[in-house]
Amino acid sequence: MTEILDGKALSKTIKARIAEKVKQIVAEGGKKPHLAAILVGEDPASQTYVNSKEKDCKEVGFDSTVLRLPASISEKELLDKIKELDENPNVDGLIIQLPLPAHIDENKVIMAVSPEKDVDGFHPVNVGKMILGLPSFVSATPLGIMTMLKEYGIETKGKNCVVLGRSNIVGRPIANLLSQKSNPGDCTVTICHSHTKNIREITLKADIIVVAIGISEFLKGDMVKEGAVIIDVGITRVADASKKSGFRLLGDVEYSTVAPKASYITPVPGGVGPMTRVALLMNTLKSREQRIS
Ligand code: NAP
Repeated sequence: MTEILDGKALSKTIKARIAEKVKQIVAEGGKKPHLAAILVGEDPASQTYVNSKEKDCKEVGFDSTVLRLPASISEKELLDKIKELDENPNVDGLIIQLPLPAHIDENKVIMAVSPEKDVDGFHPVNVGKMILGLPSFVSATPLGIMTMLKEYGIETKGKNCVVLGRSNIVGRPIANLLSQKSNPGDCTVTICHSHTKNIREITLKADIIVVAIGISEFLKGDMVKEGAVIIDVGITRVADASKKSGFRLLGDVEYSTVAPKASYITPVPGGVGPMTRVALLMNTLKSREQRIS
């Protein structure tokens, strides 16, 4: 029997827990957690992401600030705005929506947020601490996946895990977290990328497969063994005239052939996506709590 890892339902449960915690903080005379986001330019996908983050904050009772800046802003002006929000004691978490216009150095921007407010977990200090297994902000998608594995009680210890993709925001961190001496964790992890030969031979040996490559329906049923746990991170928009939006979302997994073989599988949409969103709220709450103590 295949169990669907329902990120939508689980994120709702976690949001309710967060909202409860916010009420408690306020009842004790504390300030609500406050997430600030900077959006540069008019990229429609980025606008959608930032709007969702604003909506999520509202839902759990966080304060939120969104600074919308023109794509023509200079790097110096942007860094000044980041500094201003970063130094604001009322701000607990600060995120800069990526990608940025080409004339702005993404690395400089990531480094401009202090690690204590870097709830996206992109700052090298947080990445380094995460790799060492020290307390840190873990970026939202890997944190969302780890939370999902934990909440569903999926056994990871001693399992063969294959991660497809090695990006800094998904593939590498999730591979690292799953290999750590922790629960979830303790996996034997293999990372595959665009130069990996014979991917099918590797995925066929996996107990757990995390797919984050951005190629729709890449992982097919004949590439997975019976009973594997499948985590599909991919999101690709494909035109679909039957939908009101004009498109539908596809994951990196061919659901129709993989799901019947899987023990657990995340759907797209409704799997990793909502977990990623709630993970940002988890990090912002954590930042607020660290500021109180
Ligand atoms: P990315 O930065 O584009 O990285 C893609 C990775 O896939 C690279 O490491 C690349 O290898 C590897 N790759 C490409 N083609 C491959 C192939 N044929 N075989 C094996 N590996 C291959 O992507 P990303 O930011 O990690 O995102 C991946 C997908 O997840 C995208 O669809 C994205 O939209 C989605 N995503 C979803 C969420 C969510 O919340 N659900 C969050 C983040 C991302 P090289 O390193 O060799 O180029």
